[in-house]
Amino acid sequence: MKHFDVIIIGGGPSGYTAAIYLGRSTLSVLVLAGAQPGGQLIFTTEVENYPGFEKGILGPDLMMAMEAQAKRFGAEVLYSQATKVDLLGTVKKVWVGDTEYRSRVVIVSTGASSKMIGIGEDKYIGRGVSTCAVCDAAFYKGKKTFVVGGGDAAMEDTLALTKFAAEVTIIHRRDEFRASKIMQKRVLENPKVKVVWNSEVLEINGDPVVSSIKVKNIKTEKVETFPADGVFVAIGHVPTTTIFEGKLELDEKGFLLITQTALMSGTKWRVSDKDIWKDGYPTMTSVEGVFGCGDVVDYRYKQAVTAAGMGCQAALDADKYLMEHASKY
Ligand SMILES: Cc1cc2nc3c(=O)[nH]c(=O)nc-3n(C[C@H](O)[C@H](O)[C@H](O)COP(=O)(O)OP(=O)(O)OC[C@H]3O[C@@H](n4cnc5c(N)ncnc54)[C@H](O)[C@@H]3O)c2cc1C
Repeated sequence: MKHFDVIIIGGGPSGYTAAIYLGRSTLSVLVLAGAQPGGQLIFTTEVENYPGFEKGILGPDLMMAMEAQAKRFGAEVLYSQATKVDLLGTVKKVWVGDTEYRSRVVIVSTGASSKMIGIGEDKYIGRGVSTCAVCDAAFYKGKKTFVVGGGDAAMEDTLALTKFAAEVTIIHRRDEFRASKIMQKRVLENPKVKVVWNSEVLEINGDPVVSSIKVKNIKTEKVETFPADGVFVAIGHVPTTTIFEGKLELDEKGFLLITQTALMSGTKWRVSDKDIWKDGYPTMTSVEGVFGCGDVVDYRYKQAVTAAGMGCQAALDADKYLMEHASKY
């Protein structure tokens, strides 16, 4: 059985950044990168908003560079999925199938995935379908775009698109939005925005890139085809937290709670005798010695740079924790 100072579960921007910091701090680090080493950026082409790359960088290239940088500082990277965890106590145990790994600290950086409509739109990701308007709106200058959804995320995506696209049409299943009134007002007052109410997307078509969508009115059953250059799916995210259910505190949507987010959202949060959560470790989860970072925690920003920043925070907290509290093991 192999022992490490730190096991990082997740090989996206947050996990690899944590590995770089902890490796440089001369700690032994195992990264379990799971079924999707490199994380969400593996599925995208140009990343134009990650600092340091004036001309942009391909998502897979950025992630391979992060992995190589983590390895340069000694991190061991396995493309394996953690299947079970036992996080209580001073010795943390993480299993990959029957193989057990042990550590003094665990960092959870398992990310999140966008909810999809489920009509095979995945095959157009990067070719006209996007789940991130902040990332991709700038590629749709002067284009006809659609946003699917009716919550705050859909409103934010719509507003981001109005800066570039010629038209933004929201397709929404109901006859009113779930989004906050202020966001609705901003969206509905924008002259570039149209709304197709009570409707769902039946098909996305085009070869090789999106050129049209087929939309059905749920009340009248009328089906219409609209020319389209871009379709932004904004119906929510699912954090990857299944293996932590019942072991770490999650919020009502399944996002991993850390001190910072728990206190921000007014969640009743534990404070130990040592005040370990409240004062010293903003990225600590509900279990001592377990930290969280990136999209699995972040219900709001969900950017590569914010995930990397949170990975740095979790690493610094973990390093401090190892020095102050876990030196005996
Ligand atoms: C198509 C697309 C384009 C994007 N474009 C941009 C962009 O241009 N700019 C930008 O800033 N952001 C962009 N984003 C958002 C950005 O990719 C995410 O914010 C960022 O990847 C989050 O990083 P993360 O480390 O938190 O998690 P993720 O990148 O989601 O990585 C999670 C990691 O956890 C691993 N994992 C999950 N469960 C387990 C397990 N049980 N055991 C082991 N490993 C596990 C996965 O295999 C993966 O390696 C884009 C996202 C998408 C989907």
